[in-house]
Amino acid sequence: MASTEGPAGTPVAGRVFGIIGYPLEHTLSPIIQNAAFRAAGLDWVYAAFEVPPGEGARALEAMRVLGLGGLSVTIPHKESVLSAVDSLSPVAEAIQAVNTVSWSAEGSELVGDNTDVRGFVQGLNSSLGISLEGRSVVVIGAGGAARAVVWGAVENGARKITVVARTPSRAASVVESIAYSIRPRAHTPSLEAASMDPSLLREVCETADLLVNATPAGSDGKTIPVPADAIHRGLYVYDLVYFPPRTPLVEAGAGSGAGAAGGLEMLIHQGARQFEIWSGVRAPIEAMRLAAGEAISAAL
Ligand code: NAP
Repeated sequence: MASTEGPAGTPVAGRVFGIIGYPLEHTLSPIIQNAAFRAAGLDWVYAAFEVPPGEGARALEAMRVLGLGGLSVTIPHKESVLSAVDSLSPVAEAIQAVNTVSWSAEGSELVGDNTDVRGFVQGLNSSLGISLEGRSVVVIGAGGAARAVVWGAVENGARKITVVARTPSRAASVVESIAYSIRPRAHTPSLEAASMDPSLLREVCETADLLVNATPAGSDGKTIPVPADAIHRGLYVYDLVYFPPRTPLVEAGAGSGAGAAGGLEMLIHQGARQFEIWSGVRAPIEAMRLAAGEAISAAL
């Protein structure tokens, strides 16, 4: 990594962080991370770098050349940067998705990590006050976020996990690859893939305790990823979409289910873990929450 020494007051390479993704016009990460840097007294900056599809690996080469301090990685690069880092954390290896890039302790190698798993588990607990132990979980979607949710559920003692996706082969591939990554353990959850057929969805929801939306459906404020009548009184609903804060799914879950929340707490917790990886100090989570809340209120 490039030296962090520079002329007084000048941001130097090792203190510049950012997010790569496409598109990035609505990202809250710069607001959350810059608030954390300020609250922790760090003279670091965090910027949004719009990197078109297919260019994720080249962006990591730029990180090496420019000596950037660290990167967040979002859609569509979470999988394509896997081969551009020098090593992977166990969780990134298990779910085959990277959302955080940092430097190794000696500062010469890039490490890919994934903080979405921790963000999901802590966000769920913080928003709905529930854990995953013994739960039957239905996950809608089959992308990087769905893999993180499934892994979080596996690692935290879920009893049964059903992955439902509009492209059934992708749901099957999530189940297959996560099953492959599960180490022998006392309790192995049942893992299944299912299609988005509405009557099948109603059926899998009927016996589930928790429904998680890991698709962008609902970010338009109109779409609901499952039939509203699939939500029953015993079903908790967690939507990873954080804007708008009350998606149609959250509204339906709040009206008919056991409790419902959007993904803002997950966003904050995954960002807090990124901050800790880069800085080595505890994240100022209240400052991050406040900054995110203000940005969302301003956008409504
Ligand atoms: P991704 O890798 O692009 O995967 C998206 C998945 O959603 C795919 O399975 C896709 O299906 C499916 N999908 C897309 N539009 C859909 C629709 N209208 N109806 C049904 N399925 C649909 O994205 P990702 O990284 O997993 O992220 C998914 C969502 O989670 C995004 O909205 C993202 O912002 C959110 N997220 C939130 C947090 C947080 O901290 N709160 C963290 C990570 C992600 P196909 O494969 O058929 O295209």
